[in-house]
Amino acid sequence: MMEKLHIGFDDTDSRKGGCTTYVAALIIEQLSKLGVSFFDYPFLVRLNPNVPWKTRGNGALCLRILCEPQQMDEVKELVTETVEKESELSEAGTEPGIVFFKGEVPAAVEAFAERTITSVVTKKEALKLIAKYKAEAIGFKTGRGIIGGLAAIGAQLKGDHTFEFIAYRIKQNRGTPRRIDGSSVLQMDRQLRRQIFNNVDPETGRILITPRGPDPILYGIRGETVEAVRRGHEIVVSHEPIERWTIFKTNQGTDAHLKRAVSTGEVKPFNPVIIRGEVAAEPRVIQGGHVVFQIQDKTGKVDCAAYEPTGTLRDVAMKLIQGDIVEVYGGVRPKSQTNPTTVNAEKIQLIKPVVLLVHMNPKCSTCGKRMKSMGKGQGFECLKCGFHGKNLKKIVSEIERPIKPGLYVTSPHSQRHLTKPLSRYGLEKTVDARLNKQVLSYELFYGH
Ligand SMILES: [Zn+2]
Repeated sequence: MMEKLHIGFDDTDSRKGGCTTYVAALIIEQLSKLGVSFFDYPFLVRLNPNVPWKTRGNGALCLRILCEPQQMDEVKELVTETVEKESELSEAGTEPGIVFFKGEVPAAVEAFAERTITSVVTKKEALKLIAKYKAEAIGFKTGRGIIGGLAAIGAQLKGDHTFEFIAYRIKQNRGTPRRIDGSSVLQMDRQLRRQIFNNVDPETGRILITPRGPDPILYGIRGETVEAVRRGHEIVVSHEPIERWTIFKTNQGTDAHLKRAVSTGEVKPFNPVIIRGEVAAEPRVIQGGHVVFQIQDKTGKVDCAAYEPTGTLRDVAMKLIQGDIVEVYGGVRPKSQTNPTTVNAEKIQLIKPVVLLVHMNPKCSTCGKRMKSMGKGQGFECLKCGFHGKNLKKIVSEIERPIKPGLYVTSPHSQRHLTKPLSRYGLEKTVDARLNKQVLSYELFYGH
C-alpha cells in the first residue's frame, strides 16, 4: 500500500551562494533512482518577504511523493543527507530544517502556511503542529528552516499559482558570468507573451531570467503553465551546458503575501498589507532619493515609501497630492530611531485623484486682455481698453493631473518574487488545478 509523503525543507542557502531549489533538484534525482512516484509538481513556496531573518528570496520547498512503507526510512535518510551535505551550514543565518508529513495535509497546516506567507510565525507554532500530527522534523543548528518546511507542505496552491522552469549550471561555471544569448530571451518574450512573465524589463530591456550571484541557477523562466515555461526553455539559447533542470509549481507573481488591512491602525511591522487612505500631506523626497508620503483614515496615519530603485512607483508617488484616495500595497517596516512605521510600497493604486480647480478672471471681450476685478459683486474691468463687464464672473477650470487613476507597480527588476506583475492581471487561476490521484512522470518536471 503506497503512502503519501510530503517532504518540506527550507533555509539551506546563504547570501554567498547555494540555493534551496538546487537541493530539491538533487533530491528529485535520487528519488527517481529509488523509483518513488511524485503525485504533484515540486513546490517552491515564497514566504513573507518582510520577515527580518530571511536569507534571500525566502523560498521553501516541498516534494510530494508516493512511497512504499518499507521505503520510508531510505527516503528520509537520503533527503536528510542531501540537505546536510548541500547546505551552507558554516554560514551565519543558514539554519536548515526538514519536515516529513505523511498522508493528507490537514486544514490547520494549510492555515499555518497561509500565516507564514502573510505574517510572522514562530518555530514553536510549527513544532506544536508537527507534534499534533505526528510529523517528523529535523533541524540543523537552530533549525529555523522547520517553519518554512512545514509551510511549504501546508501551501496547497489551490487558487492562483504559476510555474518556474529553473536551469542549473555545471559546477565549474558557477561564479562566472552567465552565457545566455540575450536576443533569444527577447524572442521568447515576444513569442510567449502573456504566457510567461518578468523575463525582460520592459523599461530598460534588461534580461531578468538570469540571476547575478554565485548560486547554481543559470536561468529561471516564469509562466502560467508547465507547457509555457518549457517552451520558453526550448527558445532560450545557452552558450554554456545545463547540468539539470526542474519545473516548480509556485506562488510567485500571485500577491499571496498581501492582505487587506481594515485600517491604518491595523498595520503591523513585518506584515505585508494593502491599505486604503487619503494622502495626508504632499510627498517629500528623503535622503537617497526615496519618496515618502503619509496616508490617513479615520483611525490614524501611516507613512508610505517608494524606494529609489523602484523607478515607476517613485515617479507616481511624487505626483500624489493631499486628498488623493489611494491604496498602497507593500511590506511594513517597523519604526526605527529615525523613521516611524512605514509601508514600503510595491504597488500604488490611485483610486480617486483630487480634482484641482483654478479660478481665473475672465478675458476682455473687446481686446482679449485678462480683466481686473472691481471688488466683490462689482464685476470686472479691462485696464487696457476700459471695457466694463458688470455681470462677469470668475472662470473655473480643472487643472490636468500628471497621473491618471489606475494601478502602478514597481518595475519588474525590483519586484518581489511574490508581487503580481501587471501582465498577470486577468490571468489568475481560481480553480483547483491539483492533480487527482495521478502519478506524474519525472519527464514532466525534471531533466538533465
Ligand atoms: Zn479690453
